[in-house]
Amino acid sequence: MDIQYLKGVGEKRVQLLHKLGLFSSEDLLTYYPRDYEDRTEFKRLCELLPGESVCVRATVSSPVQHSFVRKGMDLFRTTVFDDSGQIPLTFFNAPYVRNSLKQGEGYAFYGKVSASARGVELVNPVFEPLSAQGRITGRIMPLYRSTAGCPQALLRSAAAQALDRDLDTLPDALPDALRAEYQLCHMRFAVQNIHFPQTESGLLQARRRLVFEELLVLQLGLLRLKGQAEKGRRFTPVSLEDFRARLGFSLTEGQERALSDALGDMQEGRLMARLIQGDVGSGKTAVAAACALAAVRNGVQAAMMAPTEILAEQHFVTLAPLLEPLGVRTACLTGSLTPAKKRALHAALAAGEIDFCLGTHALVSDTVSFAELGLVITDEQHRFGVRQRKELTEKGSQPPHRLVMSATPIPRTLSMILYGDLDVTVMRGLPPGRKPVKTYVVTEDMRARIEAFVRKLVEDGRQVYIVCPLIEDEGAGPASVESYAKRLREDVFPDLRVGVIHGRLKPRAKEEAMRAFAAHESDILVATTVIEVGVNVPNAALMIVENAELFGLSQLHQLRGRVGRGDWESHCVLFLQSVSDTARKRLDVMRRCNDGFEIAEADLEMRGPGDVFGDRQHGLPVFKLADLSSDAKLLEETAQAARAILARDPALALPEHAALSALADRLISQTGRD
Ligand code: ADP
Ligand code: MG
Repeated sequence: MDIQYLKGVGEKRVQLLHKLGLFSSEDLLTYYPRDYEDRTEFKRLCELLPGESVCVRATVSSPVQHSFVRKGMDLFRTTVFDDSGQIPLTFFNAPYVRNSLKQGEGYAFYGKVSASARGVELVNPVFEPLSAQGRITGRIMPLYRSTAGCPQALLRSAAAQALDRDLDTLPDALPDALRAEYQLCHMRFAVQNIHFPQTESGLLQARRRLVFEELLVLQLGLLRLKGQAEKGRRFTPVSLEDFRARLGFSLTEGQERALSDALGDMQEGRLMARLIQGDVGSGKTAVAAACALAAVRNGVQAAMMAPTEILAEQHFVTLAPLLEPLGVRTACLTGSLTPAKKRALHAALAAGEIDFCLGTHALVSDTVSFAELGLVITDEQHRFGVRQRKELTEKGSQPPHRLVMSATPIPRTLSMILYGDLDVTVMRGLPPGRKPVKTYVVTEDMRARIEAFVRKLVEDGRQVYIVCPLIEDEGAGPASVESYAKRLREDVFPDLRVGVIHGRLKPRAKEEAMRAFAAHESDILVATTVIEVGVNVPNAALMIVENAELFGLSQLHQLRGRVGRGDWESHCVLFLQSVSDTARKRLDVMRRCNDGFEIAEADLEMRGPGDVFGDRQHGLPVFKLADLSSDAKLLEETAQAARAILARDPALALPEHAALSALADRLISQTGRD
């Protein structure tokens, strides 16, 4: 049904609903409330306390009086009584109450109790006659996400009409047996109660049922994504001895295991879809390079995507000298290439004249085609969505093997969602000789000492990162790269070489700043979190983070991972501007803990997944109801249910799975779109 036909909804109001994305009855049914107002409690007038919101049953004792306060402000007053007492009611700009509140009649009111000169009063309460009570009082009322000019009453009425019309015929996507097994209520009960819950427990049951479906559909989609791509090119084993010799170090046990997992996948003849999860600095790049070389020696091209240009270029700068001498023709494709260069590179890729191409997501643009793409490596995966991952996979005649590397250790609940379509290798351990980075949480009174420490380190030949939350000053707020660098150059360290890097610089300037720092042409690099991922300068021995309370713990862990990469003892100083206990408690985790996995768990617990992963970039699907931090148990249950369903019906071809199958397809096609 089109919402045009709703009763009491004129053209103007239809526009408002359209603005909220509501076009049909189905849209209304699945437009779940964002919150609820509990109007179930009734009190007697003598029990009312200022500040509370309650219902009362009372009789109007006097005619409504109108008084004019000033232009645009009319006051309407009356009094009501019950067997316990009498209170005034006050309405602002509500002329309709003169007709709708009749002296001597009984009404149910709901509103906020305010203190008044002589006791308490209700201000602007909603009400309904006692003879027809129960529509807007004495029940749990939904609160919908709304838009300017669109009253809750309109949304409630629209939802109620949609329920009246279509609830009885609403199908349930979950098979009966599954509902029975997990004790889930029927879709009809769920939809009715998510909008207009009869009781608190009805609401909880409804929510559980709907969240279960959301998560189940997601898991089915991801598992199918993983299952679909079974057959892949079979690589033959190749020698990597020359590569190992050029590395200059031997691989750690963790790296060896990750490499053999990946090579094993690709030599088995099935399509690899593997995630390597390794803490910052664990040496994922070397594993990626070895895999790329193995692919190239099997006669196909390899590609590696990084989330930022800096990182793509840094990979190129490290890997080209390593691989070129072994005969691997290596290139880097980023958005900042000139059109001519881009065209030339595209042509070379299509002609198979490049063996290994690094780049940003520019690699997945429609204009890029490969002669024979056999392996796609994605670095720092959590910044890409499932869909982007898929797009690159769909290039080429036969799907390429996929290797995903994540430096952000993420809690299991989230990895199930983000990487449910992948096999996982956890790469434990760091290369030998790494000393843990000593971490300090400090306040402003330590500044002089920290500055002296910076000077001493630089005199010893080391380098220092300083990370600020902002690029430019926004008044007296958090530290900004621009003004911080100015202060260092002019006042604090006029004799030291201070570089600057942030996301608003031209790619050329960014590259130059990074290159200069890596070449030790600057001593201090003042930066935003653009350096968060991957950048590698082993001579840097100190990381200072300003306004550390504004960063997530996983992000701080990433930043800290920029130091401690060389032979020197390294330090991380977290400047704290806020003195709140929560901020201190959060940052204290950093002081105590060096394990990225533990930190990620703590971060998720304290902030929730949206914040941990940033808003748009995380690649997490947008849920209507599910909340990954509080619905962890349902996530486990639905994972189990999804596996059981697919074990019995891998293609979801049984009639009872038709609805789930359609929902899963729709979700996967939406996920990861930016
Ligand atoms: P990440 O896992 O964070 O991507 P990188 O691949 O950038 O880590 O490696 C971090 C540093 O450790 C690099 O300088 C790299 O050369 C070095 N490295 C990697 N593996 C080893 C190893 N097995 N032994 C010694 N150093 C290593
Ligand atoms: Mg890396």
